[in-house]
Parts: sequence; C-alpha cells; structure tokens
Amino acid sequence: MKYDCIVIGAGPAGSASALKLSSLGYKTLIIDPRDTKKVCAGILTAQYVKRYGINHDFVEKELKGTRISFCDIHAQISYRKAVEYSINRESFDLFNLNEALIDGSELRKERVSSIEEKGAHIMIRTNKESITADYAIIASGISDLSKLYGGTRKCAFCVQQKKYVEPDNYYEIDLQPGVYSWVAPKKNHVLTGSSSLAGFPDIPGEKGLIPLGPVKKTFSKRFLLAGDAAGFVSPFEGEGLYYSRRSGEIAAQILSDAMSGKNTLNDYQVRWKKEFDFSGLTMISYLISDRRILEAFVRLTRDSEEFNNFVENILTGENKKIKIQEIGLLIKMLSKINPFNTARSPQC
Ligand SMILES: Cc1cc2nc3c(=O)[nH]c(=O)nc-3n(C[C@H](O)[C@H](O)[C@H](O)COP(=O)(O)OP(=O)(O)OC[C@H]3O[C@@H](n4cnc5c(N)ncnc54)[C@H](O)[C@@H]3O)c2cc1C
Repeated sequence: MKYDCIVIGAGPAGSASALKLSSLGYKTLIIDPRDTKKVCAGILTAQYVKRYGINHDFVEKELKGTRISFCDIHAQISYRKAVEYSINRESFDLFNLNEALIDGSELRKERVSSIEEKGAHIMIRTNKESITADYAIIASGISDLSKLYGGTRKCAFCVQQKKYVEPDNYYEIDLQPGVYSWVAPKKNHVLTGSSSLAGFPDIPGEKGLIPLGPVKKTFSKRFLLAGDAAGFVSPFEGEGLYYSRRSGEIAAQILSDAMSGKNTLNDYQVRWKKEFDFSGLTMISYLISDRRILEAFVRLTRDSEEFNNFVENILTGENKKIKIQEIGLLIKMLSKINPFNTARSPQC
C-alpha cells in the first residue's frame, strides 16, 4: 500500500497536518506508537483561541489573565478582551487525532526508526514494517528520530508535577534569569513546573523538553519538519501548541501544492517565516535574561498601566509579532526605571 503522505507523530502538529491532508483528499497515514504521555502545562493562548476557537470537551478552566513575578515583586495582567484556556492535554491530543481519523487518515501504532528518500518516493521503516509514500511530515516532537533528520537539538529542560491545591483562574509565571517556573490551574488541582537551560531542575516530577527556537532548515526533497521537531515555540513563554498546529497545516498545504506541481518544498521555509516571526520575542527574552532588566520589567508591569498593556499585547497578540518600534518603546520605558534607585532590593 502506498500513501500520498505519511505523518510521523500524532501530537498537535501531526494531527493538524493529517487532518488537512485527508480533507484535501490525500491518502494519509499517521504513525505514532502513542506510548508516552506528553508533559505540558496545557495553556491554550489567546492567539490559538482566536484562530481555532475552543471545544469545551477538553477545557479545565477559563483563564482571566497571567501573573508574573520576580522574587517578591508581583504583577497581574488581567486580559481586557482575550480569553485563554487551561486544558486537559491528553483529551486535547485525542480530540485532534480523532478529527484526522474521522476525515479519513489512517493510524498505525508503530515507532518509526528511519526515513529514506528514494527518488520520487520516501521509505519509512518502523519497528514492524516498511511503508512507502510520496512525501512525509516529521512531527515527532523533540525525539531521537527528529534529531536524525535535522530536528531540534537545543532545548530547555522542564520538570512538572500535579498538586492538589485550590486552583484560581490566573496562569502564574515566576521569572528568574535563565529559569522559569509556572503554576497552571486545572479543574481541581494545579500543575507546577520549572524550566532551566542548565539541565533538569532538581525537583520531583515528570520531565519534558521545550525547543529553543526554529532549526535552520525545515525541508528536504521529500519531507518537512513541523511543530517541536522544527523548533516552533515562542521563546518568551514556551508556547508551542499554536505553532505546532499552524505549522502542521502550513506543511500540509505546501505538500498539497507540491503534489499538484504548484511549488516545491523549499516554499515551506518562506511561508512559515512570513507567519512566525520570533525575532521580537527572542529580543525580549534576551533582555530579561539580565537580572536588573528583569526586575525593571516586572516592576513596570506592576506599576505602569501603559507597560502592563504592552505585556498583555505580547501575551495575547496575534502571531506575537513585535515591531521594532515596540522594542524601542520597551527599552525606553525600561530605561526610566533603575532598580538600584528603588528603596530596597527584592527579597528572593
Ligand atoms: C513542560 C512543558 C510545558 C508546556 N506547556 C505548554 C503550554 O502551556 N502551552 C503551549 O502552547 N505549549 C506548551 N508546551 C509546548 C507544547 O507541549 C509543544 O510545543 C507541543 O506539544 C508540540 O507538539 P508536536 O505535535 O510538535 O509534538 P509532540 O506533542 O511532542 O508530539 C510528538 C509525537 O511524536 C511521537 N513520536 C516521537 N518519536 C516517534 C517515532 N520515532 N515514531 C513515531 N512517532 C514518534 C510521540 O509519541 C508524540 O505523540 C509545553 C512543553 C513542555 C515540555
């Protein structure tokens, strides 16, 4: 049996690309052993909700905003319009996969071990068989397989655990240079986690990895990389669900156009770069990796309405593209506050 496309991985990127391909009439196979649970805080951001809406089957909580803190400086950003949701990640993945299967994609619960481009075809080997297709989408997250074919290598290390404490309706982020901790409220518990660039934090919990930005090349002659495999995660707060789903769709559209002779796979790189511009967010992350700037950032979010609105726009904006003028404004506002001039140092 030969397929038009094989999608490797049934996370948000894989399911979105399979759904798009099968809805366009292509014979699509998803391969994923589905033997591990994804570690994730499960926050669906405003940009996700604006584009895709929300299905309440997997919602745990509607969120009113985000609290950020640095040591004992706490700021609250209450969203004026946007709505974010805290979801059950397992149900979310299952829902998305089912959508693709209902639309005609097939699923094999196998593990892919290698991918070989052979002239006009691609050969996928799993732990059970070899399968041929015209094209493949590698949506296997941060995995050994993705790494073998040009996928993400640089990651932040995360540990997350479930705690039975009363949840409220704000997502909480505690920032320290190079370290980031969170509390994600669920229906009757919270998920607390911590991420670090210097190895897994030494706390109990489940381990996960977050990519640190897109890989240089996301296409080959016969395959495309999507989602975490390609490193599509916001460098500001680690949002990946929107970029996974959207990149899966873009990859599927590019393959469809290639199959009808309208473009080549190189166009994928051009297309996602037009939509995902991480440069502004990378710049902000770089700025707040400095302790004094981070302190000023959180203090201003707490004390200045204008700055609070600016941070709200970063968190809830469409495509999170930040204009160079906005970075200029940010630096100007930050330079007005000198943490050394404040009455006392923050207590950490
Ligand atoms: C601790 C943590 C918290 C996070 N919190 C958030 C959040 O709150 N909001 C947000 O937007 N993002 C969050 N993210 C990021 C988000 O989880 C990812 O960006 C997203 O899951 C990526 O989706 P994906 O489909 O690319 O990959 P994945 O979801 O990782 O799916 C990859 C799939 O590939 C399969 N696979 C792997 N190897 C093979 C193989 N050899 N053969 C076949 N299949 C294979 C796996 O079984 C898996 O099902 C978080 C990440 C972490 C680690």
